[in-house]
Amino acid sequence: MQMNVTGRAVGGVVIGVAFALLAACTVGAPGAVAPGARTEEARTFLDNVNGTLLKLGVAGAQAGWVAQNFITEDTEALDARATQQAADATAKFAKDSTRFDGVTLPADQRRQLDVLKVSLVLATPADSKEAEEVTQLVSRMRSTYGKGKWCPDPAKADQCHNIDEVTRVIASSRNEPDLRREWEGWHTISPPMKKDYARFAELSNKGAKELGFADTGAMWRAKYDMPPDAFSKELDRLWDQVRPLYLELHAYVRMKLREKYGDVVPEKGPIPAHLLGNIWAQDWSNIYPLVAPQKADAGYSVTDLLKRHKVGPLDMVRIGERFYTSIGFAPLPKTFWERSLFVRPHDREVVCHASAWDIDYESDVRIKMCIEQTAEDFSTIHHELGHNFYQRAYKDLPVIFRDSANDGFHEAIGDTIALSVTPEYLVRIGLLDKAPDATRDIGLLMSRALDKVAFLPFGLLIDQWRWKVFSGEITPAEYNKTWWDLRLKYQGIAPPSARSEELFDPGAKFHVPDNTPYSRYFLADILQFQFHRALSKAAGCSSPLHRCSIYESKEAGQRLNTMLSMGLSKAWPEALEAIAGTKSMDASAILDYFAPLSKWLDEQLKGRPVGW
Ligand SMILES: [Zn+2]
Repeated sequence: MQMNVTGRAVGGVVIGVAFALLAACTVGAPGAVAPGARTEEARTFLDNVNGTLLKLGVAGAQAGWVAQNFITEDTEALDARATQQAADATAKFAKDSTRFDGVTLPADQRRQLDVLKVSLVLATPADSKEAEEVTQLVSRMRSTYGKGKWCPDPAKADQCHNIDEVTRVIASSRNEPDLRREWEGWHTISPPMKKDYARFAELSNKGAKELGFADTGAMWRAKYDMPPDAFSKELDRLWDQVRPLYLELHAYVRMKLREKYGDVVPEKGPIPAHLLGNIWAQDWSNIYPLVAPQKADAGYSVTDLLKRHKVGPLDMVRIGERFYTSIGFAPLPKTFWERSLFVRPHDREVVCHASAWDIDYESDVRIKMCIEQTAEDFSTIHHELGHNFYQRAYKDLPVIFRDSANDGFHEAIGDTIALSVTPEYLVRIGLLDKAPDATRDIGLLMSRALDKVAFLPFGLLIDQWRWKVFSGEITPAEYNKTWWDLRLKYQGIAPPSARSEELFDPGAKFHVPDNTPYSRYFLADILQFQFHRALSKAAGCSSPLHRCSIYESKEAGQRLNTMLSMGLSKAWPEALEAIAGTKSMDASAILDYFAPLSKWLDEQLKGRPVGW
């Protein structure tokens, strides 16, 4: 049940809860009471849960929508109240659901209860004082992050840099000392969170234990239809599949950055974290001009095409909708066009970060964006609409099941469709006269790899760090050291200056103070290529994978719809099978997709060091 979905870079408020299942641990012995009576009791309980969560969910979505479209103290307060009510109810239901542990029930009821039980991200302890304390800790960390500013000159408060300014400098500056100063500056916002984070971990673990989990990390990992430890192993397996490709990209980018910045970038060691165009080095797209392959540029710009053809914001959304209708989905309802926000209003403050909404859990779907005529927004529209079509596809299920198969799936769907925005697609919709030939592929693939491949190790390590914190494997005295050990191990990244335990660098990433799990973004990155490969095959595409678009393919659309309409009612391997014909996640689709780039990188790297 997910109404408001936002991205991995900024993260976002997911009102309500994301549900998933704990299958392997819940097959129990029959209860002492007669099975029929327990089935009846469970039905009554679940009817109440579904009804209450629907009511509170709709109220939360309405309040959230208004709060983000008309930012005032009052709408913020109304939103906070509605969110708290939904969260409290969910917490109570999750705890209540444990009274059916070990009771044999019809499969559908069993799954609803199991999903409910693992639906919490934060389990507050039963002790009401401690519950209040942990809730306050999270809101304080959130607000410390939200208000985070770096002031180059403390005497001049009007010249402080907030995250937008820091982001802009790191994306566009090519001056190493400036980049270093900005990077270090942003990391001064988080040391005050360290003590709060340690206490938060302690209290949230207490709540998780009361629900029967080993710790909060185990509770998060329990959402994936397998025992928590098996899920960690599954992520390692996927990472091992894609690691060789990441190593090649890393080595090539390091070589080009060394040409640009000299000895600041080592020949063989890790890349300094401040030179990759992004505060967290999670998306390297901004340094494309520094690493662009010669004579392999795509030769067109979607931004220019949109401008030249006078395609306005609303036209862009219509084109996005047409993608989905072309593969067999019903058009969006009239209310979508009446109630969505498409352009930045001039008369008030709004939250412009793109998001997709499902206000009534049925048909009142909307997007909220401040659309500009750019390639990025054109792709984002296709992405956000993916959430809306998913939401509509599972609308007939019990409320508990109105969510994606696991939290990676929701993000993956929109991205899967965005992968179909190929040059050939642009030709088919009349934006581009002629698709560039294969000699231009390396440019297209490089810019995509700087986003999708570069992200993978980062997507993995945020939760690797948190799982260790929650399990007690590391103590506050090792927070920062472990953070950088993991960044070195997975990303091959090093800080530009010495870091100590006085600092708290994990807190400089939104999802840590916001307490939003992060593995979903790693999964989404893997899954979208697996989906794209399967759907392209269903569409009969025989081009290289990166040139396949499923536009106008009813076969691909039908396969997609079968999966979407399952929502969360089945374990995710079954949903995966419906779309990809296999129950296991497979990162080899990424390798297929980037095969031409991988070959090219290999040639560029002849005799050069790879790894760190
Ligand atoms: Zn999204």
